Amino acid sequence: MKNFGLGIDIGGTKTLIIAVDDEGKIVARELLATALFYEQWFLEVTPLIDRITRTFPITRIGIGVAGQIDHEGTVLHAPNLGWEHVPIGSLFRRQYQLPTTVINDVRAAAWGEWKLGAGRGYDDLAVLMLGTGIGGALIAGGKLLTGAGGTAGELGHMIVGGNGPTCSCGNEGCLEAQSSGWAIAKRDEAENAVEVISRYHAGEKKAVEIIDDAYQGLLRGCLTIVHAFNPKAILLGGGLLKAFPDLPLWLEEQIQEKALKAASKGLEIKKMALGDDVVALGACHYAKN
Ligand SMILES: [Zn+2]
Repeated sequence: MKNFGLGIDIGGTKTLIIAVDDEGKIVARELLATALFYEQWFLEVTPLIDRITRTFPITRIGIGVAGQIDHEGTVLHAPNLGWEHVPIGSLFRRQYQLPTTVINDVRAAAWGEWKLGAGRGYDDLAVLMLGTGIGGALIAGGKLLTGAGGTAGELGHMIVGGNGPTCSCGNEGCLEAQSSGWAIAKRDEAENAVEVISRYHAGEKKAVEIIDDAYQGLLRGCLTIVHAFNPKAILLGGGLLKAFPDLPLWLEEQIQEKALKAASKGLEIKKMALGDDVVALGACHYAKN
């Protein structure tokens, strides 16, 4: 009999649940709005999971969450969800009596791209997700770096300097405060980065300066990644990337010019390939470990 895994992506607005077969093919899919409180979310998500488990014999559960998660699968801090110290792993283990793994969403995405997407074949890989915030993940020597407390890869909080506002973490000069959607919007007193990007394309001076700064911040961040971790590839993803189609090639050229030659030899900058399913797919695959 075939085995199936369940992958769940808990995002700030939506929760995606998929069932995946051993070949990585998605065989069932459910989507719901993420409720404000986790108790309510759990009440709403269980009937959808039950619907899937009635058809497919699920043997493992992998969950990706935008936040910091400890090794037990407790969500320590998820600002987009408003969750603090939510023991999501043990809730699921009790409810379903199945092995359940909970990891950060960008780390899940990195794992998914490494196993099934644009990162296949690269055992040393860095991932940067450019959206409202900036998330990161690192695969080194064929292993996902987790760090002592499970939070390795917070690449958005690398200090790169520049003219950005104070970061959400309280520090000055974080990559996220220079190059993320929220920082770009804040510097131009705009509702969102999309507004600033259209002003940039119209050639407005301030917007051009802000976007140039964002590019330079990403370059400094990538140079640091290259020198610290010597990856074979850096994968870029996230909503902001769609607005900057020239970014991967520009970064690749700049890095080849500026990085230590031995560290950047053969480095590739690529776009992530798995689309909106990447977190759920990656979390499900990671749960196989
Ligand atoms: Zn920061």
